[in-house]
Amino acid sequence: MHKKLFIPGPTEVRDEILQAMATPMIGHRSTAYADLHKSVEEKLKVLLNTEGRVLLFTSSSTGVMEGAVRNCVGKKVLHTLNGEFSRRWHAISEANGLATGTIEVEPGQAITPELVDAALAKGGFDTVCLTYNETSTGILSPVPEVARMVREKYPDVLILVDAVSCMAGVEIKNDEWGLDVCLAGVQKCFALPPGLTVATVSARAMERARSIPHRGYYFDFIENEKYAVKYNTPATPGISHLFALDKQLDDMFAEGLDNRYARHLAMAEHVRNWGRRRFELFGDEKYLSPTVSHITNTTGFDFKALNKELGNRGAQISDGYGPFKGKTFRIGHMGDLTVADVTWLTGMIDEILKL
Ligand SMILES: *Cc1c(COP(=O)(O)O)cnc(C)c1O
Repeated sequence: MHKKLFIPGPTEVRDEILQAMATPMIGHRSTAYADLHKSVEEKLKVLLNTEGRVLLFTSSSTGVMEGAVRNCVGKKVLHTLNGEFSRRWHAISEANGLATGTIEVEPGQAITPELVDAALAKGGFDTVCLTYNETSTGILSPVPEVARMVREKYPDVLILVDAVSCMAGVEIKNDEWGLDVCLAGVQKCFALPPGLTVATVSARAMERARSIPHRGYYFDFIENEKYAVKYNTPATPGISHLFALDKQLDDMFAEGLDNRYARHLAMAEHVRNWGRRRFELFGDEKYLSPTVSHITNTTGFDFKALNKELGNRGAQISDGYGPFKGKTFRIGHMGDLTVADVTWLTGMIDEILKL
């Protein structure tokens, strides 16, 4: 039996999207491909509220996280750590031999403008990396406020944002907020199969990239831009993903973006209220994520046994990530899931655990 995915990625994919993936193949140097690429980019610009470039990379998000720091960090990058994915970005910069600095808060806490300001004030940084939605802890940091502070006080610092688990689930005003790179793989709130990552790249970020001699090859923003102006990519793109993304963006606009964001919040509210009644929510209540809920296993139930029984009934949720394995659990409510879906899920958990 297929298990409906209530995990924070990959998320449940609708049949219509799987069908779109099965569109007969076209060559990537054809006009048909350029039309498709253009259509996807134009729609992404609407979604992300940007007039700038949106690059398409055939890769999971981690590849573009690496590309972003390689293209943008000239002097030193500030990593803002509040969980496993923000840590991963720092590890990537270290692996590339970049000069890094960090600020760190406890898992479950958000990265605030005050924290980032205090770190940048020390000087020497030309880039800051932010994880909008820390999927490992279910915390949505106040990126618009952090970005506003950086743009006002540190005009030369580039802002790179990992929006992997919230893009298309919460509103992103890329240009108004002054983001330089905002990236996300499509297997989370876009609800496509994994394999494609989209990224805004500002003119400022392109200019920085031009000053950096070794940007790597596959994710070189300058080389990708050369092709993007012709609605193409340097290497063969995941064309099937573009067919599916083009359709999914149409479907998102048909639903209405505001309705889509409201639906994510409504699902979150259902899961949070249930989580508070039955267990305890993990993390700072002020910054709870609209796309994934992180719940402390206060009753000490056997997570594996629960997920196995959920599997028998056609659903799957996630264990705590990294150090939280067995101590917490996570429910993803992103993509095309509905309030009826999460209500079905929490009802089954109640039944199984006899809550
Ligand atoms: C899932 C996730 C990633 C990693 O994405 P991949 O597509 O698996 O490389 C990075 N950051 C965040 C916040 C995520 O949720």
